[in-house]
This record gives sequence, structure tokens and C-alpha cells, in this order.
Amino acid sequence: MQIFEKLEEYRYEQVVFCHDKATGLKAIIVIHNTTLGPALGGCRMYPYASEEEAVVDCLRLARGMTYKAAASGLNLGGGKSVIIGDPERDKSEALFRSFGRYIETLGGRYITAEDVGTSTEDMANIQVETSYVVGVDKTYGGSGDPSPFTALGVLQGMRACVEEVFGTTSLEGRTVAVQGLGHVGYHLCRLLDEEGANLIVTDVRKDRVEQAIREFGAKPVAPEEIVSVPCDVFAPCALGAVVNDESLPKLRCQIIAGSANNVLLEPRHGEELSRRGILYAPDYVINAGGLINVADELEGYNAQRATSRVMRIYDAVKGVIAISKRDRVPTHVAADTLALERIESIAGMVRLHTGHPYGHLQRRSRERL
Ligand code: NAD
Repeated sequence: MQIFEKLEEYRYEQVVFCHDKATGLKAIIVIHNTTLGPALGGCRMYPYASEEEAVVDCLRLARGMTYKAAASGLNLGGGKSVIIGDPERDKSEALFRSFGRYIETLGGRYITAEDVGTSTEDMANIQVETSYVVGVDKTYGGSGDPSPFTALGVLQGMRACVEEVFGTTSLEGRTVAVQGLGHVGYHLCRLLDEEGANLIVTDVRKDRVEQAIREFGAKPVAPEEIVSVPCDVFAPCALGAVVNDESLPKLRCQIIAGSANNVLLEPRHGEELSRRGILYAPDYVINAGGLINVADELEGYNAQRATSRVMRIYDAVKGVIAISKRDRVPTHVAADTLALERIESIAGMVRLHTGHPYGHLQRRSRERL
């Protein structure tokens, strides 16, 4: 693998390989872009089949975080880390503390968080060694479960889409088909029910479906039927790649707005949605509520402030729709443009010198005396 070629392709800033024989730590930290602020992104633990696979995954995920933070209006850059190992077998207190020490060496350029294969307990171990970690448990001053904030953000993004298609932000009387009644999907159903929306739901877990029928009067359908039910909004909140060659011709919705990551199997499926006149709220814009919430920990967590920031996902999705119309491009392309335009505008702005010539050098020479 030609690593510098890869870094050049998408202008990555830094890749750090962390190795500690004593704890068995093999980790990679990727910092993609820090124009807007320190790179924030979760730490994934996974038994990658090869080192190359781990590097490629980390590079891809870090770049995604740059776009997500930028489109969400956060003053954060994009980064990610992976620990090579089996989360069921290879975890230890020492492993995560060792990783925390590596994060500390980066002086705040990278801030970590929970991700697939890591938990709040692991974050607590990292926190012993560094303050550059968010998503710790509430008992340690963290922000707790991000899912209600993700669901609130999805609702706000959905409002922006509904306004575009039906001319009003209200979801009253709209039919929303929710795929997946887990942490985010169930919260979303509650919010939609409070708004007076009609719910069609599915989950592979029968108990969750039954609860949604009891609590919200939701109409259940089989998991394989959810993509083809007639509805105003389809809200994928379970799996990725739900928009693909097979599902596309079956869709009978006007809007797709949910929390799932990587909703489009391939970018061409976003183009096809646009051709069919289905408005797609890009995944990383509409599902950023959890990230916005967790990032609030950096300022001393305040749930009220986090909530008001999550509400702005409405504006972010409106921004995406506006760019999509301006540039005549599908919304998934417009989302990238929104993020890049913000990064470029800030990169241009920092060219202005703030009037402290060589301040840091003077400090250093004073220290030497
Ligand atoms: P979860 O695991 O709590 O819920 C997923 C639900 O989907 C479960 O109830 C599961 O039984 C169900 N499910 C699985 N396969 C299904 C199928 N084939 N058909 C119907 N239902 C199925 O996960 P979550 O935290 O609610 O996240 C949901 C999605 O949103 C994921 O794609 C996740 O990556 C994404 N997301 C979550 C957050 C967050 O804050 N939790 C933030 C951003 C993105």
C-alpha cells in the first residue's frame, strides 16, 4: 500500500501508528482535516483481517467526520481511530489507558469518543490518561446516551424536507414509515407521535413492534415490506445501504429522512433518487445530533445548549436543499458542497494575521534564558 499516495488523494494531515508491546496495543489515529478545530471522531475496535484493512477503514471514517462536523456547524475537524483487536477478548484497562497516553501526546489535535466495539467504560479508562475524550458516562461528567439527540435532529431534518415538499414544517397527519425501533427509531416514533404523525413501523424484534403499537397506535409491517409501503416519509433507522438497486423501484415515499449511516449503497443510488423526485436528507447531516451532543462536553456539558444546537439540523438540511437547487445536483452531493464551502471560507479567513508577531518564539527564548 502506497500510504502517502492515499494521504495525498484526500489531503489527510496526519496518521499515527501506536504500538505498545506490554498492553498489546496496536492502534491507528487518522487526522484528516483540522481547519475548523481539533479532529473529533470515535475509536473503533475491530478484529481487522489485515493492517491494510484497518488503515483504509480509519482513513475513510476520518474523512467522513470532517464533512459531518463541518456540515453541522461545529468548530471541529475530522479524525478517527481504530484499535486492532477483538472487543470480546482483547480489552483491558491497561490497553485503553495506553491508548489514552498516545492521544495525550497529540496535544489536543485529536479527540476520541465511543464507536463500534468500544464503550463508555473504555472511554473512562482513556480519560485517566487524557482529557481529549468525550462520550464518557454521565457519572463522569459526560453527556450520556446520544440517541434522543440523534432522534431530535432527525425530526428537525425531516421538518426541513416536509416543508420543501408539502410547504409546511408540520408533521401532523403525515405518514412516516420507520425502519428499526432501536435507540434512535423508538425515540423518533415518540416525537412523531407527539406531532400527530401516522406511524408505520417495523423491526426484527417483535417486542419493540408490539410496544410501538401499544404506545403510539403504530401500524406494523414485516421488515421486508417497509421500503415499499406508501408513505410521505421513509425513515431508515436500522441498517445501512437500504437504498440500492433492489429497493429503489419499490420505494413509494416522497422523502427519505432517517438516522441510519450510509443509507445509499453507492452514490449513483442518490442520483437515481433525485431522478425519481424523492427528496433524500443526507445521512451525515440529518443524523449529526449525537455528535453535536457529545461535542458539547468540550465546553462543559449543558443539555439545553446541546438541544438548541441539535435543533439547527433543520437549517443544515435547508442549506443542503438550497445548494442542491443552486447547483442542480442531488442532495448527497450538495451536502459535501455545504461542508467544503464552510471549510474553505474559514481556511481563507485565517490568512489574516492577528498581530502577535513571533509571540510563541519569544516565549520559548524567554524560557531558555
Ligand atoms: P439500535 O441497534 O439501537 O437499533 C437498531 C434497530 O434496528 C434494532 O431494534 C434492531 O432490532 C433493528 N433492526 C435490525 N435489522 C433490522 C431489519 N432488517 N429490519 C428492521 N429492523 C431491524 O441502533 P441505533 O442506535 O438506534 O441506531 C440506528 C441507526 O442509526 C444505525 O444505523 C446507527 O449507525 C445510526 N446512528 C445512530 C446514532 C445514535 O445516536 N445512536 C447516531 C448516528 C447514527
